[in-house]
Amino acid sequence: MKCPKCEANLRKVDITVAGAKSKVMSYQCSECDYFEFEPASSKKVVEELRETPLKIKQKIVKLSQDRLGMYINKDVARSLNLKGGEEVYVSVPDKKHFVVDLN
Ligand SMILES: [Zn+2]
Repeated sequence: MKCPKCEANLRKVDITVAGAKSKVMSYQCSECDYFEFEPASSKKVVEELRETPLKIKQKIVKLSQDRLGMYINKDVARSLNLKGGEEVYVSVPDKKHFVVDLN
């Protein structure tokens, strides 16, 4: 495949999306910044993420000293068996997700 912008060869790059088992295939230009997702594989990942057993909308709340917080809903707490006081690891895999790893 050729880049539609500069005609250079496109590289196929697999992208891991946090929370999904399948990878999204993408085509990236070796010369310019052209980038596209392969539609079938991205659809599959979006569907996989939608099938997550529990997905709820939450608000980020403002705490003191520029810190932000998020309440953990009781259904989430129950399904993860959280009691409060646990130490967790937060990672930021990309600009749209943060992942909380329970130890
Ligand atoms: Zn290009």
